[in-house]
Amino acid sequence: MARRKKAWFDVKKPDTEVVRVEKEFDMIHVCPPQTAPDFIRVSPLADAAGWVDVDQFTLRHKTYENIWSLGDVMNAPNAKTAAAARKQAPVVAENISADIRGRSPVAQYDGYGSCPLTVERGKIVLAEFGYGGTLLPSFPRWLIDGQKPTRAAWFLEEKLLPPIYWKAMLRGHEWLAKPTRIKVEVD
Ligand SMILES: Cc1cc2nc3c(=O)[nH]c(=O)nc-3n(C[C@H](O)[C@H](O)[C@H](O)COP(=O)(O)OP(=O)(O)OC[C@H]3O[C@@H](n4cnc5c(N)ncnc54)[C@H](O)[C@@H]3O)c2cc1C
Repeated sequence: MARRKKAWFDVKKPDTEVVRVEKEFDMIHVCPPQTAPDFIRVSPLADAAGWVDVDQFTLRHKTYENIWSLGDVMNAPNAKTAAAARKQAPVVAENISADIRGRSPVAQYDGYGSCPLTVERGKIVLAEFGYGGTLLPSFPRWLIDGQKPTRAAWFLEEKLLPPIYWKAMLRGHEWLAKPTRIKVEVD
């Protein structure tokens, strides 16, 4: 209810009754719960929550070895962002390529995700993080400190990223997204 600046949320947790929670707000931004498409949720590929069930590092399906998944649809515990999918794509590509040659997965995903948080005109916090909230900055701190609003991050988002996105990332020419190698223990 906008006039009273109160919102009510029905919170449903597994195996519990729905609980209605009241929150007061000055400004509110509500996002609907994320779900995978129906054809995935009802398929044997999905986990109990409806996401494609993969190993969070290799992105290989936990049950079906010839299935690999990336992007919003799968259940690795990363932030669902295009920035994450960008890092996952080469991992899946390299691992499928290794699999075709009869080898084990060679690349692993570190949970990288990124959120550009616009806090004022001309300044952005470029938050980059991986599994467990580990900071995974792409740039040295003196250039872009991912924990502070910076003009450099605004410049990156406004001027540099659009051509990199269209001309490099989407065409698979993005050298900065090289995946981490899986170390093989040799006895
Ligand atoms: C408002 C908003 C702002 C965002 N801002 C950012 C941001 O600043 N930075 C960032 O990194 N990420 C951002 N994201 C997240 C980003 O958009 C997603 O993480 C990313 O698009 C996921 O890519 P994907 O390919 O996995 O899935 P999608 O982009 O959802 O692609 C899935 C595709 O599959 C198609 N599809 C579905 N069902 C079928 C079917 N049965 N047959 C054929 N095709 C089908 C869909 O139409 C869709 O085109 C934002 C998302 C939203 C909603």
